[in-house]
Parts: sequence; structure tokens; C-alpha cells
Amino acid sequence: MILQGRLLLDPHQLPQEGWLQVDNGRITRIGEGNPSTVPEAGDDQSLICPGFIDAHIHLPQIDAIGCDSLQLLDWLEQVIYPAETRWADQPFAEAMALRAHQRMIRSGTLGYAGYLTSHLHSTVAVLKAGHAIPVRAIVGQVLMDRRAPAELLGHELARLARSKRGRSALSVNPRFAVCCSDELLSRAYRRVADDAFIQTHLAESKQECEIVAELFPDDPHYTGVYDRHGLLGERTLLAHCLHLCDDEWQLIEQRKSVVVHCPTANTFLRSGLFELDAARRHGVRLALGSDVAAGPDFAMPRVARAMIETAKARATTVQSDAFVPAPAEVWHMITRGNADALGWHDAGRLEVGAAADLLVLKAPFEVDEHLIGRLIYTWCDEYITHRVLDGELLENVKIDD
Ligand SMILES: [Zn+2]
Repeated sequence: MILQGRLLLDPHQLPQEGWLQVDNGRITRIGEGNPSTVPEAGDDQSLICPGFIDAHIHLPQIDAIGCDSLQLLDWLEQVIYPAETRWADQPFAEAMALRAHQRMIRSGTLGYAGYLTSHLHSTVAVLKAGHAIPVRAIVGQVLMDRRAPAELLGHELARLARSKRGRSALSVNPRFAVCCSDELLSRAYRRVADDAFIQTHLAESKQECEIVAELFPDDPHYTGVYDRHGLLGERTLLAHCLHLCDDEWQLIEQRKSVVVHCPTANTFLRSGLFELDAARRHGVRLALGSDVAAGPDFAMPRVARAMIETAKARATTVQSDAFVPAPAEVWHMITRGNADALGWHDAGRLEVGAAADLLVLKAPFEVDEHLIGRLIYTWCDEYITHRVLDGELLENVKIDD
């Protein structure tokens, strides 16, 4: 398959006119100018970029977007736990997992790291969705054993042969220390296979941090709770990290864990303004996530825009010299940056040999040095004219909203 368009090889530079060849799920050739055959998608006015990657999303929450006015712990109790309880019904869970994949690809998200519920069949549901719409995924059941409705507590993980997983890798997801006893956290550690990821939440709200300090009085800080159980490593994704002390930033850097910044969610729940400067000062690895449904946007360019806006909000309120990232930097994060954070060194980039998870865009403006800024600040899903997922052109994506 041949795709034609200006190639966004590097968001810091202007895209180049050219074409891509895709065979067996991979980019096999990249050329300049016009292709020698008629392209399957795109033309000289199109843009071609890697599909977006979301480093934090909750599939069972996709219908809970916009339930506003609560902060984290009340929102979990009143909005999210009732929503997740509905996944007790397996056909419902399977239909919703499929809708989540459909909803993601509509916004150009072709890879993600995500959470399910505690139900064993939630893993079956997501693997089925992954076979129908093979969005690349690192995804796992939520583990909890306290402070949540009884029907959502669970610590058993579905065991499914690797051959049945397709493009989905299964992770271990203790929800957060509020809902996880020491016993559960040590059990979670034992469940982590050699190459598996761990996903959890850390220091999202101040109230949550106070409860964790009461529940784990012998640990030096919140991050130390996870570290004591061996849960911090280079395949650990820590969502939020809004209320950390220097020792915690240092520990995360030492363990090479990934901090997943979720700016739209942090604003929605009024949890706080992420300290990008602290993350940079300590040299921690950083990724970007939608955190649907606390975050209202599936579209990663909007999340990227929110990252810039959060940094500007800090710069205009608490810290006048706060670092504000440029559009090209946040675009990098939602493509190659997130791919590297998820260990997908063959994704999020236009390179020979890379996975062919690609978008063909048509944007209503000139290609100049503000291209990426214009894309981010005016983003709408209608800019996407074609999606190539695992090397296949998706025609007429159906979304049953
Ligand atoms: Zn989350």
C-alpha cells in the first residue's frame, strides 16, 4: 500500500512532500516527491503522521465523561464505581470495550495504556475488542481490596495464553494505594511477569495523599509505599504525580519509572497543576495521558494543548518562570515520546521498519512554521481522512455513539 502526503517526520521541522509504502503491518519504504503508482490514500495536499498514543485511559469510564462538580474521591464513589459495576455484565463489558476502541481510533489514537475493571472477563472483553479493532495496547484489570464497593474488589487476574492476546499486552494495575492493602500490593508484585508493565495512580489529590499517609504511617511518603513492594521500575506508569516531595521525584528518577501527566483530568477534578519544572529538574521520564473519563477528551492533540495550557497557568499564577513547552514538543510526546515510554520503540514515528499505525490528515490551513500549533489548537477529528491500523487501511469507521 502506498500513502501520499507531506510527511511529518519530525514535528520540529516542516513536513516533507513524499510517500510511504506499507507491507505486512510495517513501513517498508519512504520516498520524496510523487509516488510512481496511484496512492491508496492521500495526495500532495495531505499530511501523514504517526497515530497518536494515549498513555492513560480507563475503558469502562468512556460514558462517564462530563459528570462534573466533584473532586477525586467523591467522583470515584459517586460516578466511577457505579459505572465500573456495570461491567459485571460480560456482554455489556465486551460491547463497551469495542466502543472504546472505536472511539479512540475516531480521534486518531492507535495505541494506548489503559485500565479495565476488576472483573476477570474484562480482560476477555478487551482482547476481543483488540481482535476486532487491533489498537496496540498495554491494558490490565484494576486491582482493589478495600474502600470500594464489594463487587469491584478483586485480586485475581485472568490468565490467557500469549497467542490469544494479539496486539494487547496485559499489565498489572493496582488502582492506587487508598484501595490496596499491603497484602494486595505484594500480591500484585508477584503477578508481574518479566516483561509486563505496572500501571497505577500516584498523588493525584491532596485528600488522597492524606489518606495514604494515615493508611501507611511507616512509609516515608506515598511513592515509598509502591517502592517498598517493588512496584517501581522502568515498566511502571505512574499517573498524575501532582503532590510529590523532592525525595519522591528522586526515587522515581532512580527507578526510571514513567510519570504520566494527565492535564485535562487534573483540571476537571481540580486536583492541581502538574509541576513540569520539577519533573524536568529531576530528569524523570514523562508521558501524556487523556485519563478519560476524568479527562473529557479522547483526542490526544487536545490533551497536548492542555499540557501547554497547564504550564502557562502555572507561569501566570504560582511560578512566573515556569517552563512552557512548544507545540512541537507536546506533539512529540503524543507520538514518539509516549511510544518510547510504553517500550514501543518501533511506534510513534515515520521510519522504515516502524509499525504502520498511521494517520492521513487534511487540515484547512497553510503549511508553515506554525503547522503543529495550528493542528493542536484547532484540532477536530474531521482532520483525519484515513487511518492505517496495523498496516490496514480502515474504511468508513463506524462509531455507535
Ligand atoms: Zn486514571
